[in-house]
Amino acid sequence: MVYGQTEVTRDLMEARQACGAQTIYGVEQVELHDLKSDKPCVTFVKNGETCRLECDFVAGCDGFHGVSRQSIPRDILREYESIWPFGWLGLLADTPPVNHELIYAHHERGFVLCSQRSLTRSRYYLQVPLSDKVEQWSDERFWEELKRRLPDELSQKLVTGHSLEKSIAPLRSYVVEPMQYGRMFLVGDAAHIVPPTGAKGLNLAVSDVNYLWRILRQYYRHGREDLLSHYSQLALNRVWKGERFSWFMTHLLHDFQDKSAFDRKMQEADRQYYLGSRAGLTTIAENYVGLPYETVE
Ligand SMILES: Cc1cc2nc3c(=O)[nH]c(=O)nc-3n(C[C@H](O)[C@H](O)[C@H](O)COP(=O)(O)OP(=O)(O)OC[C@H]3O[C@@H](n4cnc5c(N)ncnc54)[C@H](O)[C@@H]3O)c2cc1C
Repeated sequence: MVYGQTEVTRDLMEARQACGAQTIYGVEQVELHDLKSDKPCVTFVKNGETCRLECDFVAGCDGFHGVSRQSIPRDILREYESIWPFGWLGLLADTPPVNHELIYAHHERGFVLCSQRSLTRSRYYLQVPLSDKVEQWSDERFWEELKRRLPDELSQKLVTGHSLEKSIAPLRSYVVEPMQYGRMFLVGDAAHIVPPTGAKGLNLAVSDVNYLWRILRQYYRHGREDLLSHYSQLALNRVWKGERFSWFMTHLLHDFQDKSAFDRKMQEADRQYYLGSRAGLTTIAENYVGLPYETVE
């Protein structure tokens, strides 16, 4: 089944409300203080008033552009980054999905992803050059290009319509080490970004949450202070595997303009191997649904 990101977010917000936890929206000027001490704190401005939140720990889960990672001194962080030479042009439309399952397609004109939000709302993506602007892509041009890149039996079934949203997202691979500084733990996109080809971004964020939650549970229940320093390594072991899978899927399925004829043959052989052998399919399935977690003890 596909458990869409928007559904995950809605369910988490409802669960938080149901357990009586407070969420404060619409804050500005968020700053983190005393992260190396036993009493870190967060200050922010809400409705013009400065507020101060005293904490045992800070979970820095504020995305790639948030303040958490930026609050760690530069000389402590190591950044690993790769920018991909293309982007994804996405289109959202109130049309029935072309297929009941996700479609990842490789075509010599570029990669295609057909996904769905519901039985009546679809989301499609096309690989485009980074130099393309969204204004160059009318709805008609998008649908025409999508049809060219899909097999005939699918392009004939494709229902087109007005776009509700259209945008171009660059693809990035990024990891920062370590994922903790004093009593602040980086979680999710604040610490790592993957190209969306492996569908791993939110999954890795959840993976970090899982490790942090298990460590904090041991800390509060059994006083296991020693486990706090294990978070970064435990999280990173799984993050790097997710990065590897996303990198692998991106290489396997996209068109690379500057690839040599030999490298293109290697890419083709890879696709034939991974899609034509049980072992190849198993390794994709194993990584796609998620690798096992390490124990926290
Ligand atoms: C096109 C696309 C397709 C994707 N598809 C998939 C997929 O199929 N599967 C998958 O697993 N992942 C997917 N992802 C990735 C996924 O969306 C992200 O990895 C995930 O949302 C990361 O969650 P996060 O909580 O770490 O960060 P975010 O979702 O970025 O959340 C951070 C939050 O912090 C808030 N924030 C930041 N700074 C402040 C501040 N100073 N004060 C208050 N609030 C602040 C932000 O407003 C935001 O709400 C996709 C991403 C894209 C762009």
